[in-house]
Amino acid sequence: ARTLVLEGVSKRFPTGTVALTDVSLGLGPGDFVTVVGPSGCGKSTLLRLASGLERATAGSIDVRAASTSYVFQDATLLEWRSAARNVELVGELRGESKAERRKRAQEALDLVGLTGFESQHPRQLSGGMRMRVSLARALVAEPELALFDEPFGALDEITRLDMQTELQKLFRLKRFAGLFITHSVSEAVYLSTKVLVMSGRPGRIVAEIPVPWDYPRA
Ligand code: ADP
Ligand code: ADP
Repeated sequence: ARTLVLEGVSKRFPTGTVALTDVSLGLGPGDFVTVVGPSGCGKSTLLRLASGLERATAGSIDVRAASTSYVFQDATLLEWRSAARNVELVGELRGESKAERRKRAQEALDLVGLTGFESQHPRQLSGGMRMRVSLARALVAEPELALFDEPFGALDEITRLDMQTELQKLFRLKRFAGLFITHSVSEAVYLSTKVLVMSGRPGRIVAEIPVPWDYPRA
């Protein structure tokens, strides 16, 4: 079963820029694929295509996930809501009862190590903790597909390593299909089951490197 399949995908923007060309990839449950490459090679565009935010100009994109979550670099939290209420948003949109969504938000915050911070507002939290809330909000949706656009890019080095460990732990527990964009090769190798290297203008996949499960991590 494949959760996300791209075949021969290209994207040309109305400006005339061709952001990426002939990209094919497939991932299923338990696959965590990272895409590395220099700035401007089309990584964000690839993720936006996979998420349906942009339409491809050639090729096909098949998403077979009942639910998809996104995590962006800026944690995009609602500043006027507490950490718990940010995570509860997903349940609200799904029409869950108050009791149900509270319970699920609490579980998700516990998983990312934020027990005790439920009632704090985003501005009261550090960058790392905001990213934890963002991960909790993504996971509470029980996604079959999780898309990450350089989520740890703005964090300091120590917090970044911390969050990588955290995400590995969550991935092993939840086994969603993950597509993760980064320009850090070490981050890619640490996190993923497979690394795709993109390069060029327009960007294309120039190498595909499987990472063995027993690769020493941390
Ligand atoms: P990366 O994430 O690897 O830095 P992007 O996907 O953001 O690369 O961009 C790839 C190329 O597409 C760049 O040349 C960029 O300027 C261009 N591009 C991205 N978004 C748009 C857009 N909405 N309109 C026109 N050109 C765009
Ligand atoms: P930053 O992102 O600003 O570098 P950190 O996320 O590393 O900051 O955390 C800043 C402070 O918050 C530290 O004192 C850290 O111990 C504390 N902190 C971070 N996460 C937690 C947590 N899950 N539980 C308790 N304290 C935390």
